[in-house]
Amino acid sequence: MDVLRRVWGYSEFRGMQGDAIRNLISGGDTLVLFPTGKGKSLCYQLPALCMGGTAIVVSPLVALMRDQVEELKELGVPAGAIWSEQSPDDANNVRRQLRSGQLKLLYVTPERLATGSLDSMLGNGDISLIAVDEAHCISVWGNNFRKDYLALGRLKEMYPTIPVVALTATADTRTRQDIIKLLNLHDPEVFVDSFDRKNISYEILPRSNPRGQLLDFLKRHKGESGIVYCLSRKKVEETVEWLNESGIRAKHYHARLDPALKAANQDAFRLEEGLCLVATVAFGMGINKPNVRYVVHLDLPSSIESYYQETGRAGRDGLPAEAFMVFGMQDIVQRSRMIDEGDASDQVKRIERAKLNALVGICETTACRRQAILGHFGEQHPGRCGNCDTCTKPIETWDGTEAAIKALAAIYRTGERFGVGHVIDVLIGKLTDKTKRFGHVDLAVFGAGREFNAAGWQSIYRQLLALNLIRVEHDEFGAMKLQEQAAAVFKKERSVTLRRDRSVTRRTKRSIEPSNYSSRSGLSADDREVFEALRQERLAIARELGVAPYVIFPDTTLIAFATSRPSTLDEMLEVSGVGPTKLERYGARFLDALEIALR
Ligand code: ADP
Ligand code: ZN
Repeated sequence: MDVLRRVWGYSEFRGMQGDAIRNLISGGDTLVLFPTGKGKSLCYQLPALCMGGTAIVVSPLVALMRDQVEELKELGVPAGAIWSEQSPDDANNVRRQLRSGQLKLLYVTPERLATGSLDSMLGNGDISLIAVDEAHCISVWGNNFRKDYLALGRLKEMYPTIPVVALTATADTRTRQDIIKLLNLHDPEVFVDSFDRKNISYEILPRSNPRGQLLDFLKRHKGESGIVYCLSRKKVEETVEWLNESGIRAKHYHARLDPALKAANQDAFRLEEGLCLVATVAFGMGINKPNVRYVVHLDLPSSIESYYQETGRAGRDGLPAEAFMVFGMQDIVQRSRMIDEGDASDQVKRIERAKLNALVGICETTACRRQAILGHFGEQHPGRCGNCDTCTKPIETWDGTEAAIKALAAIYRTGERFGVGHVIDVLIGKLTDKTKRFGHVDLAVFGAGREFNAAGWQSIYRQLLALNLIRVEHDEFGAMKLQEQAAAVFKKERSVTLRRDRSVTRRTKRSIEPSNYSSRSGLSADDREVFEALRQERLAIARELGVAPYVIFPDTTLIAFATSRPSTLDEMLEVSGVGPTKLERYGARFLDALEIALR
């Protein structure tokens, strides 16, 4: 399409963008289910430009709105935003533009839409379409329910002839049905794109030496930005402190942080490069930064959905990105406790437990992780993706039936009353106060498992948990209990295949050693230097303008500059991501930078 080329400088639609856009322009209600990074925004931005009037975009987060408006302005598209804490001057300015019909897109927060009547804001202006971003927020089923979203159901009554497009990255059918029903979408066309994020690689390791494991990982990402998720505020603060002590530039974010500092750290992440942001899940929705190169989980997330959403924040620009997680038995105990102590109904708790188990299954799988994850979302993948740890370093399996019997016997013989640490002490025959006090040194199982060390048994117990042969009672301080299915193992009616964990102490070097981001994109040493020079130039421009670097040009465009090395503005216009507006604004500066770099 002409507009795609002219305004965005992109040569073709991605995935199902084109189909969704055509449906919307022809006036049909539309539901867009794309994973993060596939380009949902374009699905309403482009129609907004092609249709008469102003498009109303409902978006839950001010930071996200401002980002998008900034990006649109950079593309030469008249856009504005209205939100509650805006200065009166700014708000009036936007209103004036709106009334005079200058704006092609108006972003509003749902609560703002509920308080100020849209009609009075619009004056006589026409609405081209209504876009509801992050539409899953309307469903109590997902984990981001927002009450304000419920009022959006009225929009369709107020403007029955205006097409509505709802967009989300949450794909489950329940949420989908809620969106259609609660927004009153009229016979909507649904566009579901594959949830596979090919450019993200997945790696999940048993936690052995978490700090060392994290540092090893971060070494591969020098000079790049990424997110490290921790479960608790306290851990966020501790982690950010020792990272900085270890020479890694890190900032933190969690819900209770002083609002000014929170905003400052979020801005820093948006505007700067090479920053590691350590956060709780409070940091998330609304991160628009396309060049997040890694997402780390130092603790187990609550479900596969959360894991996928959080890791999906990496690599929106389509360039290689890494999802890395360490986890241990303790995580499972902790998560289970959180579920049980929560105030949800029994039914919801059951669902949450099942979700947690499904995630543990992914962690312990011996097959392709991508296949397992996508399978969870109902999508078939042939496996062997070649871009997850189980594919690149295939897992050895072994017949663990004998070991499983010993592990289960140790639980049984100690009365199903103890946590994993103590039961392992019994197996490896460790003399402790506890083993002596409870008389466990006299049991036949005491010292019966010396063929493995404690880490080995930890691995075995985690897998027995994933196989649902045991469970952990958190209200009894993590006591392990046998599940019914364990009986078949005792009777040797069922064999147990286990994965052999890779060295659970310090990890060995990876076979491919991607030291930094440019080498990961397959650039030659020469091109890499040019790319770095262009990156510097971009940062300089971004600082002058006070905008995020990626608003100027995404990394993909800089890489294309570095490899194709345009020497005229015309040649530059051929590069993906370069439209006439940006060419006019920045073309000359990047040509200069190229020339200097190539001298
Ligand atoms: P989502 O909202 O689905 O997570 P975005 O709308 O933020 O994704 O888009 C992700 C990135 O992909 C953005 O940097 C955007 O400019 C880019 N993009 C979108 N559509 C295309 C396209 N057709 N060709 C190239 N890049 C695209
Ligand atoms: Zn794989």
